[in-house]
Amino acid sequence: MSTNAYAWIEKSLSTIRSANWYRSVQSIETLPGSEIVLEGQKMINFASNDYLGLAGDRRLIQAAIEATKAFGTGTTGSRLLTGHRYLHQELESAIAKFKQTEDALVFSSGYLANIGTITALVGQRDLIIADEYNHSSLKNGAKMSGATVINYCHNQVEEIRNILECNDKNYRKKLIVTDSIFSMDGDLCPLPQLLELATEFNCMLLIDEAHATGVLGETGAGCVEHFNCTGKPLIQVGTLSKALGSLGGYVAGSKSLIEFIKNRAPSWIYTTGLTPADTAAALTAIKLIQTEPQHHQNLQKNITDFKKLLQQSQLKTIQKYDNIFSPIFCFIQPDAATVIKVGETLKSKGILASAIRPPTANTSRIRVSLMATHQLEQLQYLTEVLTQVCYC
Ligand SMILES: *Cc1c(COP(=O)(O)O)cnc(C)c1O
Repeated sequence: MSTNAYAWIEKSLSTIRSANWYRSVQSIETLPGSEIVLEGQKMINFASNDYLGLAGDRRLIQAAIEATKAFGTGTTGSRLLTGHRYLHQELESAIAKFKQTEDALVFSSGYLANIGTITALVGQRDLIIADEYNHSSLKNGAKMSGATVINYCHNQVEEIRNILECNDKNYRKKLIVTDSIFSMDGDLCPLPQLLELATEFNCMLLIDEAHATGVLGETGAGCVEHFNCTGKPLIQVGTLSKALGSLGGYVAGSKSLIEFIKNRAPSWIYTTGLTPADTAAALTAIKLIQTEPQHHQNLQKNITDFKKLLQQSQLKTIQKYDNIFSPIFCFIQPDAATVIKVGETLKSKGILASAIRPPTANTSRIRVSLMATHQLEQLQYLTEVLTQVCYC
């Protein structure tokens, strides 16, 4: 009998280490915010998804405490059994109102929302047409659905048209799936063109607003609002864990879509309802975004200011400056070993930015994300340091 069935794990780990793909965790010891203490060292935080700075907001914290006191720490069951609270309903109505859709449904995470929604919508006789840069949750949702998946080159609308023309009659249902702001590049999907194609070919369209909710558009409703596509027939998914400062995910769309997903999404039916604390915090975040536009206005101003600073210093980002609307900026580095070194140098200068390596993205890069609460001096300092240490 083999006693060494697990020896391959150590071997695989050493391969991962030698390729500079090894990953580990680091502890933040303060409230989330634009300034944090990481493993004892004070840092300016350019690696957070908390775009509006709400995760450490005292009003979200208070709402979470009050909900916990009233309803406990856990919901004790799935939503269809004992896990439903009035708070969930309230949050779902708030999301639907924010997104101007008929209805919405909350999941325990954005990852589960994507898996649940995609697997409910399509199956073996169907076709998914997906951007090659889509988030892991969309890719795994597509795989789990059993549908045929055809990937198109990032944002290439003509290629989607070709795929649709060649496969128009071969499948029962068709679904285009894309990030709205791409998480590792920071660029936007061409939503109006995608909608046109979807209409022309009678195809469904799902867009993941994880990084755009609370960030893009006049009221912060997302990429759909940014492109004036509010009310158009599409399916929006997203997370409560980024600009909304909490934890959980959602899908928003027509009443019948939501009703159907409630009956067909295993990752919603067979998992415990979102905690009262997370639900109340997300609900408070949406209310704040709607009553205090300064949060997302400050973020938009920081994006504009940082773009100007980069232009002046001639630092190159992945995208052309004219096309930057999102708070995510990426600076390509030659390889995984270099990007780790650059990340460490930035840290030693008090700047926390993500060093992204394959397989998270296809090339190594320093990824900076801005928050509404960053000060101009911090953006200036970041630009100065990037100019010194980046290979771009
Ligand atoms: C973060 C993210 C998710 C997952 O959301 P969680 O709530 O953190 O699970 C899904 N899609 C995209 C594009 C994301 O960036």
